[in-house]
Amino acid sequence: MKPHSILIITLVALTSCATPTPTPTLVPTVTPLPTSTFTPVPPTATSAPTATPAPTIPPLPTFSGDPVFIGAGDIVDCFNGWSEKTAAIIEKTQGVVFTTGDNAYDSGSPDQFKNCYDKTWGKFKDRTKPSLGNHDYGTLGASGYFNYFGAVAGDRLKGYYSYDLGAWHIVVINSNCIERNRCNENSDQVKWLREDLNAHPAKCTLAYWHNPLYTAGSYKGQGQFMQTVWQTLYDAGAEVVLNGHDHNYQRFAPQDANGKLDKEKGMREFVVGTGGKDLYNIPQPIPNLEAFNFTSFGVIKFTLRAASYEWQFIPVEGQTFKDEGKDTCH
Ligand SMILES: [Zn+2]
Repeated sequence: MKPHSILIITLVALTSCATPTPTPTLVPTVTPLPTSTFTPVPPTATSAPTATPAPTIPPLPTFSGDPVFIGAGDIVDCFNGWSEKTAAIIEKTQGVVFTTGDNAYDSGSPDQFKNCYDKTWGKFKDRTKPSLGNHDYGTLGASGYFNYFGAVAGDRLKGYYSYDLGAWHIVVINSNCIERNRCNENSDQVKWLREDLNAHPAKCTLAYWHNPLYTAGSYKGQGQFMQTVWQTLYDAGAEVVLNGHDHNYQRFAPQDANGKLDKEKGMREFVVGTGGKDLYNIPQPIPNLEAFNFTSFGVIKFTLRAASYEWQFIPVEGQTFKDEGKDTCH
């Protein structure tokens, strides 16, 4: 290859690296503003080329009463109808929607978000706060996910963020830890988490991410890399952790970061990988697993009160598993 060809290729490569996509600086917490109509606002470029535009994070719609928080993970498969059925439950329910990752199968591509996710769970995109699963990274940099959700998904190099919901502080963690060494003691994410929790000493705190630390299903014993995140949340007095990845429903008693029952300070983990993809067997329970099911798709609905919470697993139409209960914040 001639030297000037290399130069041209290099220039092209450099130019294509400098895409117009801004690197968003995440505003840690958004207090929802009252609004009845809502239009997603894309990040806008400023005239100063050196400025990093702060992304405009659309406010959540306002609902009446104590916040309702509803969702699941492992959601939309283009080729079965289950995510339409889980979406039908949410459509009938007000409140903020969370996802515990693996939003659009099989690879989180732009087409899978546009043609599949958007037609089911996309109906309530304006009240959805998503998180990332491994399948979302099936597209390089999870760009299908970040382009679809926009500023609400946070900085595309991070994928973690937090917000307040009523009296609760909600933390979204990116459990794709291999990418950018994301979950270790000295990782940017854990440092951010510590600062974020210090800055938001709420009575009640909930966190969600994809890969469960505790699971009796297919990924049993494979989530140890989430232990530091668990310990950090535990140290800050958080109450609830929501996960997916294992395609079933599991509810644990409050535990510490070593799987020890801890009713005073422990966090209660729910695996809710029942959003629609398929269901995985649970061969046998593990310690502190209080309830589980692998025959019903569905979503979990929380009511987040000032110093307590209630949960209810709601199966899709035609299926029967139910689970409900309540607990207080530490
Ligand atoms: Zn997964």
